[in-house]
Amino acid sequence: MQHDHRTMEHPRICKPTQPSRTPHLTDYDTTVAQFSWSEAQAQLDGLPAGGGLNMAHEAVDRHVMNGRGQQTAIRWLGKHGERRALSYTELSRASNQFANALESLGVKPGERVFVLMGRLPELYVSVLGALKARCVVTPLFSAFGPEPIATRADLGDARVLVTTPELYQRKLRALRERLPGLRHVIVVGPAPTEDAGLHAWDALVAAASTQYTIAPTDPESTALLHFTSGTTGRPKGVLHAHAAVLAHAVTGRFALDLHDDDVFWCTADPGWVTGTSYGILAPLVCGVTNVVVEAEFDAQTWYGVLAGERVTVWYTAPTAIRMMMKLGTEALRGHDLSALRFMASVGEPLNPEAVVWGVQAFGLPFHDNWWQTETGGIMVSNFVSMDIKPGSMGKPLPGITAAIVRLEDGRVHLLEEPDMDGELALKAPWPSMMRGYLNEDARYRRCFVDGWYLTGDLARRDAEGYYWFVGRADDVIKSAGHLIGPFEVESALMEHPAVAEAGVIGIPDPVLGEMVKAFVALKPGFDAGEPLRRELLGHARKRLGAAVAPRQIDFRDNLPKTRSGKIMRRLLKARELGLPEGDLSTLESDEKK
Ligand code: AMP
Repeated sequence: MQHDHRTMEHPRICKPTQPSRTPHLTDYDTTVAQFSWSEAQAQLDGLPAGGGLNMAHEAVDRHVMNGRGQQTAIRWLGKHGERRALSYTELSRASNQFANALESLGVKPGERVFVLMGRLPELYVSVLGALKARCVVTPLFSAFGPEPIATRADLGDARVLVTTPELYQRKLRALRERLPGLRHVIVVGPAPTEDAGLHAWDALVAAASTQYTIAPTDPESTALLHFTSGTTGRPKGVLHAHAAVLAHAVTGRFALDLHDDDVFWCTADPGWVTGTSYGILAPLVCGVTNVVVEAEFDAQTWYGVLAGERVTVWYTAPTAIRMMMKLGTEALRGHDLSALRFMASVGEPLNPEAVVWGVQAFGLPFHDNWWQTETGGIMVSNFVSMDIKPGSMGKPLPGITAAIVRLEDGRVHLLEEPDMDGELALKAPWPSMMRGYLNEDARYRRCFVDGWYLTGDLARRDAEGYYWFVGRADDVIKSAGHLIGPFEVESALMEHPAVAEAGVIGIPDPVLGEMVKAFVALKPGFDAGEPLRRELLGHARKRLGAAVAPRQIDFRDNLPKTRSGKIMRRLLKARELGLPEGDLSTLESDEKK
């Protein structure tokens, strides 16, 4: 999606003259000048006796050791009205039990533990416990269909998977033959069958010892494996080290302004990177009370949470904000939101109107910020103590050097002049920079040129140093904040016996940002009618899950291809949107990374 903010005039929103509390970052330029990652390290404790750095220790155990064990770490609101609170001490003990359970199964450090479930307390306990056991954690989106689950569990060599009995029966059981390396499945609740390697949480985890000592952890050892999508090929496994927790601490304070008495709510699902870094790690590292809401989006439910829990800092996403905007400010009536003091948004372009609507509806603007799976943490942000230019993603985090660049003859050329479109690049390294793509060294190396990490996003910087998102340099789709690889969708469609070719693109959608649309050419003998269209939509939904499947399918006699036979998604898109085709017909789909 291309955005031209130069033509949009929105008055800037001045920083609060009297913020309701002193922000961690009081003056942007001064902080940038003074900041160093090595000094910021003092925000962390490290494992006792020089044992290195472990994310779960920083997120949980050290608060207990520092006398804050009684503070509520997680306040969970179940979708049927249940409530559960876990103090830092309770979370420490529960995650100890999970770490002990993994050891009792013979699971070794470095082995991969996948978590596939809705936002249940056990998800948080599993992630933290697996980190304590020095396993590599991969949260999977519970709304994924069987195909994305199987692809990721296979690529990531999942050794253990934690899920619910219902998801096991519905999505996982039939896949187990395809995943011979998956030795253990732990289900939260009673084991639904007697399948090999299937364990009930209560018998295995809840019965384990609450005492556990984290073994020395190399800060550079892998902690998280997140899957993200590229233009072609299978999903990319992004590896993050325990050292990334420093960026979670720093961004939690600077970009989200978290203080340890805050009540924080990140609406993202931990199946996506925001829901892990900012729905689990950063808030706990900053010692706040982290509100977890199991229910899916519903404006009244959300307003009820904000008011009822007295949320002070709220981190959400443009699609949800647009859905709330559609309902108007009247929907807020009767909700006491006086506790709310900071609102942030991430994941897709935040339209200037949404920033301004925040002020009308909540008395506060949404602070947009930018990052991606590979950067591990927020990199560009509208900080509380700076004016907002609605439509801008803000300025680089202190400690991060950003630039707008163009690649020329394989070298990075910095575009120093303001208002030039180019690729957003970040000077490597920083603590939460990905440490690799799983089994894809060459692809990883291609992301770095002349010491710069190339993000694959197009952006521009204005004369005051604010960054503006322009679009993606590649063909990936952002729908409702979820990054979707067209190839994964095309592959699922191609499995249907009627499909000869498929090309998948994102088309602009006023609420979702982009909507997934497929173009399909049929094999001879199949009738391009409504029944088949419906069948294909259903087929894709069943394989991929509703969040990834196309919402529209158009039939074509054939699809435009390059000489080497690649489907030209950009040409499909240009034709669909009535844009000039220009020299697109000579372009291969760009495979940046
Ligand atoms: P993911 O890796 O799934 O978190 O997706 C990262 C991508 O989402 C980025 O590379 C951008 O294309 C997009 N994105 C994230 N935050 C923003 C933002 N504030 N404005 C525009 N696009 C964003």
